[in-house]
Amino acid sequence: MVEVSFEFFPPRTQRGRANLVRTAQRLAGFLPTFYSVTYGAGGSTRDRTLATVVDLREAGINAVPHLSWGGDDEDTVIALVNEYLGLGVDRIVALRGDVPSGAGLARTVRHAEDLVRLIRDRIDAPLAIEVGAYPEVHPDAATAQADIGFLKRKVDAGAGGCITQYFYNAEAFFHFRDRCRASGIDVPIVPGVMPITNYANLVKFSDKAGVDIPRWLRWRLDELKDDDQALRTFGCEVVTALCQTLVDGGAPGIHFYTMNNAAPTAEIARNLGL
Ligand code: FAD
Repeated sequence: MVEVSFEFFPPRTQRGRANLVRTAQRLAGFLPTFYSVTYGAGGSTRDRTLATVVDLREAGINAVPHLSWGGDDEDTVIALVNEYLGLGVDRIVALRGDVPSGAGLARTVRHAEDLVRLIRDRIDAPLAIEVGAYPEVHPDAATAQADIGFLKRKVDAGAGGCITQYFYNAEAFFHFRDRCRASGIDVPIVPGVMPITNYANLVKFSDKAGVDIPRWLRWRLDELKDDDQALRTFGCEVVTALCQTLVDGGAPGIHFYTMNNAAPTAEIARNLGL
């Protein structure tokens, strides 16, 4: 049985949050294990992430937060984790977080590993911790093996599962999974999947995140970029096939980066018979 989870980002307004509750409800039929809510670069959405988790949970939706250091000290981070525990949250996604633009070199980098360790040291309650993983190698990594070494340290610090950056090469995922296993990482590694809905945004984001859009795919999306419907139809076929390959190859679940848009994710999930 393949588990699914859905990722949202926190809307800016209360009305946006109400819309997001409806979006989550539209996806509820796929029986997701959880819905996660991202945390803006540098902690910029701390209050909005919390408010979104509160609104979703009040509607009976199993929302869990992403968490990073932002600019916070340890006590502030732990206070936030305790607030989430008080809401019934039993899982978080712990990340270094993207460095906010303009932060320059002044910002001290604290890695996700330190966050996982802090939470395990200071929180007794049962709390599952997921961490990020990078089949195509994190852009800051010196080498692919070093990146896997740091992932292992996050797991050794107490993470119980990994969710990957999205990718469009299934082989990258399988190769990465095998290397992780060979390095002693034995927790579930769930592929993150990004539906394709907009060419320009996908290229911009992928280039920044170190995600490869295979050449054939880039060319085809470029041809379709001015025909919204054709691009979505083609994107849905490609991503459905990717997911099917991942499931057939033993992926334990799929984490969808929904971009707060139910339809493209729902179509792929339906195609997969989830
Ligand atoms: P880390 O594990 O700290 O790794 C970052 C880099 O540092 C890697 O190159 C790694 O090899 C290296 N490294 C790790 N540990 C050490 C160490 N101890 N010493 C030296 N180098 C080290 N960003 C957000 O801002 N908000 C979100 O909500 C968010 N959600 C995400 C969800 C998922 C599933 C994923 C995969 C990513 C998400 N991101 C999010 C993006 C993420 O924050 C960035 O990719 C960030 O650059 C790295 O985060 P990390 O937790 O993987 O960092």
